[in-house]
Amino acid sequence: MATDRTGAIKLINDTRLNVASLLMEDVGSIRELELTLTSFPLDEELVASSVLGQFRLTRLRSGVLVTGTISGDVELECSRCLELYDQPFTATLTEQFRQTVDVRSGSGITSARKPSDDQDEDDDELGFEIDDAHEMDLTEMLRQNILLALPMRPDCGERCPGPPEIPNESEAQSDSRFAALEQLLDDV
Ligand SMILES: [Zn+2]
Repeated sequence: MATDRTGAIKLINDTRLNVASLLMEDVGSIRELELTLTSFPLDEELVASSVLGQFRLTRLRSGVLVTGTISGDVELECSRCLELYDQPFTATLTEQFRQTVDVRSGSGITSARKPSDDQDEDDDELGFEIDDAHEMDLTEMLRQNILLALPMRPDCGERCPGPPEIPNESEAQSDSRFAALEQLLDDV
């Protein structure tokens, strides 16, 4: 992997990173990582562009901690005028990648929690894994954090030609959803 004079790892239009050398080092060892993605698909419709990430990777006893910030743009449809516009985003993230294979012996590391089908809802808490080739795939971490950083009601800004926002609409919607849920619970 390429590093510059400051020692930062550069990832350009790539989201996979081999951390074998970091895993050979003591707990607390760090790497700086600079990530640049020209284009990064978030789902079937949304694509982030000009994504820049500045991360610090810290060796933990059981894996690698990633902390840092990401920024970029996502083309969204304004909820008022329905025109597409570039929505800038920034996000601060802290995520843990769990080690699954010992870097020296290559043998599997037993996890206290085994993921199974009925624990799907806990996947977020399980975090991410370093694979058996000692590679971290940052794709899902980036995707989740960028999606969380986007506004619930996209708005192209002060110069939007569309109708003004109706402030209580979203509250009213969630209230009716809760009412429906309560109804369901009452029926049980
Ligand atoms: Zn608009």
